[in-house]
Amino acid sequence: MDGREQATAYAEAALENMARHGVPRTPSNFEVWYTHASGRDIDLSKALDILVSNDQPFTDEQNTDIYQRYFNLADTSAAVYATAQEYENSMDTVLDLLAQANNDVEYYGKALEENLGSMGSAKDFKVLRRALETLVSDTKEMAAQNSLLKNRLQVSTTEIKSLRTNMEDLQKEVMTDALTGIANRKHFDILLRQMAAQAMEDGDDLCVAFGDIDHFKNFNDNFGHQIGDQVLKLVGMILTELSEGGTMPARYGGEEFAIILPGIGLDEATEVAEKIRTTVASKRIRKVSTGDDFGTITMSIGVTQFRSGEPLGDLIHRADLGLYHAKHSGRNCVVTERELDQAALET
Ligand code: GH3
Ligand code: MG
Ligand code: MG
Repeated sequence: MDGREQATAYAEAALENMARHGVPRTPSNFEVWYTHASGRDIDLSKALDILVSNDQPFTDEQNTDIYQRYFNLADTSAAVYATAQEYENSMDTVLDLLAQANNDVEYYGKALEENLGSMGSAKDFKVLRRALETLVSDTKEMAAQNSLLKNRLQVSTTEIKSLRTNMEDLQKEVMTDALTGIANRKHFDILLRQMAAQAMEDGDDLCVAFGDIDHFKNFNDNFGHQIGDQVLKLVGMILTELSEGGTMPARYGGEEFAIILPGIGLDEATEVAEKIRTTVASKRIRKVSTGDDFGTITMSIGVTQFRSGEPLGDLIHRADLGLYHAKHSGRNCVVTERELDQAALET
């Protein structure tokens, strides 16, 4: 199939699916289902599959929610671009104003010089008076220009300040996971790079933990995607509450969380991971409005320590391996790189 045929096939599949699930044919819904048909966004496809398999209705609210969650980033980029453009325009205005001010000052300087010249050579009172009058009117005009300029500069400065705040807010949004409010994977990658560089520079310890909710697919299948989302939020909250001393939790993807633990070695990091594990396991998942009880959830965690200078991919691989072994040791447990060495020796 060439590109055009492929696109037609995706569009047809999207429209067919939308009709089957009663999704209105709006541009944003079409974007969602077209992307799903193309298989370009695995997370989106997973989310839609979960909703379909749970017979969840595609209400307007649900459709908007999906669009916001998976396509918001494009909106955000557009907003970042627009803000940057405005910022540039405001800066241009300020530069124009400053250039104009410079011209005015030059003009005023010349006028002063001329007037002073004619005053110096003035023989009679009339000429002196005329020169003085011109001087006064030029000075008044200059003062008026100055105050106009001051006002316009003030407006531009306020504009620039608010644009800067907008930029900061947008930057925060791009780095934050919309569901849990903690750092997203992109932010995690950036922070890990920064913290590893800092640890190398200072000779400090640095650990990383990877946690993944156990049997979360079953949980979703049993209680629905929306309750599942609440669980993800709860885990985000627990991680935030247990974060101290620069600890940075992030949602790494789906139901997987990554935590950067700066300034502590493997033993202490393992204690933090244990604390996270037991706290998660201790919470009963309840729907306050109905009193429904969905039981408890557990988490498996892998912990590893940064080896100064190693590629970060190696560090992440070890944390992932720890997690993998935790899953294979029966879940709801923490496995560190020490046990990994042991496991490697035994196999
Ligand atoms: P394991 O113990 O081996 O990790 O089993 P699991 O079922 O947790 O793992 P699996 O990778 O098979 O399934 C992960 C599930 O996580 C699939 C999907 O239902 C759920 N999931 C991923 N992202 C989200 C999300 O944003 N919201 C909800 N509600 N569920 C999600
Ligand atoms: Mg899981
Ligand atoms: Mg997983």
